[in-house]
Amino acid sequence: MADVLIIEDDATIRTALVRALSARSHSTMTAATALEGLQSLVDHRPDVVLLDLGLPDLDGAALLAMIRAVSDVPVIVVSARDDGAGIVAVLDAGADDYLVKPFATDQLDARIRAVLRRTDPGRPTGPVAAGGLVIDARARTATLDGATLDLSPKEFDLLLFLAERPGEVVSKRELLAKVWNLPYGGADKTVDVHLHWLRRKLGETAEQPVYLHRVRGVGVKLLPPP
Ligand code: CA
Repeated sequence: MADVLIIEDDATIRTALVRALSARSHSTMTAATALEGLQSLVDHRPDVVLLDLGLPDLDGAALLAMIRAVSDVPVIVVSARDDGAGIVAVLDAGADDYLVKPFATDQLDARIRAVLRRTDPGRPTGPVAAGGLVIDARARTATLDGATLDLSPKEFDLLLFLAERPGEVVSKRELLAKVWNLPYGGADKTVDVHLHWLRRKLGETAEQPVYLHRVRGVGVKLLPPP
């Protein structure tokens, strides 16, 4: 699906990532140091870079600046800890997204598809699947257990946004910013109303969720049923 360059000094994590991404039909190349990674980037021109922040020879943000000097390849930063300041620094330095370790392969695969779709909308990235849900961003179709869902454009965007982040709690504010393009917020009810209709179409309720789980006071997350 994509050529992924993994820049990661921990051999165990590197091997696990190669295995997980290969199983999702991505092709991988690896580098154990920042400079090796930069060389590989220039030589092989990957579609996306997975960048570990803690590398032995260079700070991740410094490497990112060097990458940005030669390439606009999408970069997903992988951080060992929930390092708020470090994450902000790399996003400012031009990272496209970040993941905090440990993360599920589903989550990584969804992020890779999402950055590829954002940076190259014409690229076929295949549908996003979670349990019985299959969402095809390019065809703008969604099916549940094989049956087509009749969704409004915003319901579709909302479902896709959550399905690209399985298991991740997303706040209403973030949904307003990213799905409705209202970065400064708007009527809180907008999200609630759309979630209500989306739940009905998925055959669930807030009280008896199947896919859309409310996290009180924080937001909502999409999880495939066990
Ligand atoms: Ca490391």
